[in-house]
Amino acid sequence: MRFTHPEPPPASARIWPVFLPFAGCPHRCAFCAQDKQTGRDHADLSAIAESLETDLQAALDRARGPYELAFYGGTFTALPAPWPERFLNLAADFRSRGLISRVRCSTRPDCVDPDDLKRLAALGLDMVELGIQSFDDEALRASGRGYSGATALAACETVRASGLALGVQLLPGLPGDRPGLFQADVCAAADLKPETARLYPCLVVRGTPLADLWGRGGYQPWKTDRAVRELAEALPVLWTKGVRVIRLGLAPEPTLDENILAGPHHPALGQSARALALFEVVKGKVRELGRRPSFLEVPRRYSGEFYGHARELAPAYFELGLTRDSIRFAEAERFLLE
Ligand code: SF4
Repeated sequence: MRFTHPEPPPASARIWPVFLPFAGCPHRCAFCAQDKQTGRDHADLSAIAESLETDLQAALDRARGPYELAFYGGTFTALPAPWPERFLNLAADFRSRGLISRVRCSTRPDCVDPDDLKRLAALGLDMVELGIQSFDDEALRASGRGYSGATALAACETVRASGLALGVQLLPGLPGDRPGLFQADVCAAADLKPETARLYPCLVVRGTPLADLWGRGGYQPWKTDRAVRELAEALPVLWTKGVRVIRLGLAPEPTLDENILAGPHHPALGQSARALALFEVVKGKVRELGRRPSFLEVPRRYSGEFYGHARELAPAYFELGLTRDSIRFAEAERFLLE
């Protein structure tokens, strides 16, 4: 039996991230630690624009690219004038010279005005990643986001109606979380068929209001094994709708890692979740086969994640009848199960 991995194909252009910590944010959200993630507690927009221009020119001189320029870490659509225009004009300049192929930004669902988005699209913005976090009113209220699930849904429609590609970000395990909530959020996000999704299980980071709440016993984050399980369940729901999941958990950063007080932070979180999701695919195929398998050929590009972290899934594959000797990695596009 041959089958493919259900994950949509990856994007071709590399991302060039530009971090604008807290820039344009109406307030600091209870869980947010952009300062620890980026090592900067505010964005000096002039300095960022200046060094971006220098770095883009250097990349152009070395014939690098193309890149997708991505403005992250703040609320791009709410930056004070003239910064959205200035950053997009800079991107357009390097786009005309072949270095930049696309431009995206991240923002909040309550900061997307249809006219503003159309104006930004006309200036060269291609995609908006919305920090939805949850579509659930109770979780949004308990984590002080300041908007409702209906606002989050409407924001997705507004992005689409402005002719922009949509990305969504979910933050499972927020205050107000309850069993089944994340999977409901994942289904709601998948139904919107965004181009991409990022899934960041909530962490308790020093210096945030959430850390105070946690310290007073008012909040418990997810355990790592739950995060792995829930993320693994979410992946096929999104993949089936053609959504590329481009991030699972926060990327390790020394300034962030040393400030995490609690929560499911593990450098192999994404690898473990992706491996478990793939294991469930293989398990389903073994069930279809109707007997114990004798052989599994795996496309080599999945070799790094196939067994999960520290071969954690080897015993589960053994249970299916697939031993180390009966699993082979090969230069192939499809899996082969016999
Ligand atoms: S979560 Fe987003 S909107 Fe809230 S403070 Fe952080 S960057 Fe700003």
